[in-house]
Amino acid sequence: MPLLDQLVAAIKSAAVEVVDLTAVLEPSTPIIQLPAPFANTIPFSLQEISRYDERGPAWYWNNISTGEHTGTHFDAPVHWITGRDRGDVATVPVTALIAPAAVLDFSAQAAANHDFLLQVDDIKQWETVHGPLPEGGWLLYRTGWDSRSASQREFLNANETGPHTPGVSVECARWLAEEAPVIGIGVETVGTDAGTAHSFDPPFPCHAALLGAGKFGLTQLQNLAALPPTGAVLIAGPLPIVGGSGSPVRVLALVERS
Ligand code: MN
Repeated sequence: MPLLDQLVAAIKSAAVEVVDLTAVLEPSTPIIQLPAPFANTIPFSLQEISRYDERGPAWYWNNISTGEHTGTHFDAPVHWITGRDRGDVATVPVTALIAPAAVLDFSAQAAANHDFLLQVDDIKQWETVHGPLPEGGWLLYRTGWDSRSASQREFLNANETGPHTPGVSVECARWLAEEAPVIGIGVETVGTDAGTAHSFDPPFPCHAALLGAGKFGLTQLQNLAALPPTGAVLIAGPLPIVGGSGSPVRVLALVERS
């Protein structure tokens, strides 16, 4: 049977399961909140054009308002100043949009310490069990944060000292950018960096290092618990917004069930 026929048959028989890693888009979908004096993104919303009425008797449609970085979304290299001369979201090669994924589960550590930072040694330890990170693929960083995504307050987890959400150490961000074979990192939190990463040196190291190296970010992923540590294939479809720094994205994972 031709390869693609085999794939279609496997999806139909559920030998290959399709797992949706995407948060729904609605006005309550959590969005990042930067402190003053920085500008913020808008929440997602619909503006009705017509709904089977005098404005359009047989049709219903809306305009949408959204930030590029609203909900589950894709960070393109040009999002960060270190990647300012690199590509916008419309230039991401389509071959990068279908890629293998390694899933590293640090949900227990993140539950015990909301400021947990992934270290290079954590990844090396994982590799001794599961093999190397996938060439041209994604590192998906599971923290259990998706269980908080119904509530902006719980998701951002901020107090008087700012947000407290798990992330990646400065050294680990550099290693992922410069040495790891991955094309990017996918996270369950509102951004690829830790909540406290504004205070790191350099600040927001995941953004600075990975986007500066022409790599990508995926944020606000859900259902990573349904994926195996290795073997899943990610399909991520950001909109080709010309000049865009990112885009809301539908992310699906193909998982082979034995
Ligand atoms: Mn972003």
